[in-house]
Amino acid sequence: MLGQMMNVPLTISTLIRHAARNHPHAEIVSVTGDNPRHRTTMGDALQRSAQLANALVGLGIKPGDRVATLAWNDYRHFEAYFGVSGMGAVLHTINPRLFPEQIAYIINHAEDRVLMIDPMFMPLIAAIRGELKTLEKIVVLAPADSSLDDGLVSYDALLQGQPSTFDWPQLDENAASSICYTSGTTGNPKGVVYSHRSTVLHAMAAVAADALALSVRDAVLPVVPMFHVNAWGIPYAAAMCGCKLVFPGPKMGDGETLQDLIESENVTLAAGVPTVWLGLLQYLEKSGKSLPSLERTVVGGSACPISIMQAFKDKYDVDTLHAWGMTEMSPVGTVNVPKRDADNLSRDDYWKLKAKQGRAVYGVEMKIVNDDGVEQPWDGKSVGNLKVRGPWICSEYYKLPGNDAHDADGWFSTGDVASIDADGFMQITDRTKDVIKSGGEWISSIELENAALGHPAVAEAAVIGIAHPKWDERPLLIIVAKDQAPSKDDVLEYLSDKVAKWWLPDDIAFVDEIPKTATGKIQKLTLREQFADFSFG
Ligand code: ADP
Repeated sequence: MLGQMMNVPLTISTLIRHAARNHPHAEIVSVTGDNPRHRTTMGDALQRSAQLANALVGLGIKPGDRVATLAWNDYRHFEAYFGVSGMGAVLHTINPRLFPEQIAYIINHAEDRVLMIDPMFMPLIAAIRGELKTLEKIVVLAPADSSLDDGLVSYDALLQGQPSTFDWPQLDENAASSICYTSGTTGNPKGVVYSHRSTVLHAMAAVAADALALSVRDAVLPVVPMFHVNAWGIPYAAAMCGCKLVFPGPKMGDGETLQDLIESENVTLAAGVPTVWLGLLQYLEKSGKSLPSLERTVVGGSACPISIMQAFKDKYDVDTLHAWGMTEMSPVGTVNVPKRDADNLSRDDYWKLKAKQGRAVYGVEMKIVNDDGVEQPWDGKSVGNLKVRGPWICSEYYKLPGNDAHDADGWFSTGDVASIDADGFMQITDRTKDVIKSGGEWISSIELENAALGHPAVAEAAVIGIAHPKWDERPLLIIVAKDQAPSKDDVLEYLSDKVAKWWLPDDIAFVDEIPKTATGKIQKLTLREQFADFSFG
């Protein structure tokens, strides 16, 4: 016997149509290259998405064709999210921080036909234009009266004169909606193809109370780029709930702009990677300014140091939602919303809990297994390789035949090592390839880094394993100091009551800079190369 409910496909155009119908005046505020404070609404965004969809039809784009963006977070990019996917084409959001040869590789691999690009990225594309075999049209995300080279058209001019309605197709909900490539620390980037269904289900999970708790009462500032796993799905979630959206454009690394946007636009929720918040906190410290409207930040992408969470809470009364996920997971997997009994925890235990990456949202199943594939208990102590499955988790990589993303039982290996406690709170201890194996036991580089970051003179910290004749590997702590470098003894003394004694680094190196990936994560591979000749004296 079948259920007798309507079989309405979950498609991306339904999100923006819902927003325009129910929240036509919900504001979308953007910093763009051509306007320091552009203002529009969800109602207008639907009309302009429709104009874009009509324009794409005019360019010969058909359902399934790939349309790329190389763009910051702003209203034009937001319209592309809905105009491109809504008409059935597949939106390929490109990370401009990839190497030029990687950008050329992914444009060719995705066979992008149209590229919509922020003017400031034009030199990047000019350098590789000759290699882009499938690209037919470049649309510059700029006003209609911009002066452009021959063959280029501005986005606003492209939309001019197009009808502001579109006959949005009833697509198969399993049709591809968008593609993101992983930043690929080794080998070529791999394409993850999201579907309309996975995107809408993921947005539903993201707005839920025990996830981002996003509602019509919020004003959201996604500092996480729209080219990085769809800004964690926030544009879709915002359309679903009709909240206000505030886009920082090219200014996402700028603490002053972020503070100004938060205060003047009454932002209640902001989302970004830890380094962004470090920059904002440093600006607040220097300027003496505060974050009056901000209620919570979502932090993910790499482990959020407790010191950042504590500074937000103690100094600015802002709660941190520590979250974990990855490109292959759309990206949300877990969010740390403490249960009611956390109210009774001591301060120390409370922050230990907050350092964890959180509980799985409904839709994501997790398990940890040892190297032989044997499942490990959820006791908060046992660590293992973290595997996941669910309807918004990658099943196979784009055009990599025989390269299923999952194992024979349908689980995806995250490449992360984690523990899970009896309440379901998962804690990442390392990337599989970064864990330090000392005398047969595992030392968590993340936990050591987190502890070192608590030292007042430490600005950045990274821990790598160095070969050791007796123990196999031992930890080396690499530090960027704030102003005055602390002594090694001072740091070791500081760490001595924060981690197990046998975890204490065998040495400490001071550097000016720690290398980062295109998504702002510590590049351990490069660090290991830099310290390839290092040995404990
Ligand atoms: P990329 O693979 O392009 O660097 P992803 O966002 O897909 O970007 O990276 C996913 C990985 O980032 C995860 O597998 C995990 O190792 C790390 N990560 C994400 N969020 C957290 C977090 N809150 N704490 C620790 N690590 C995290």
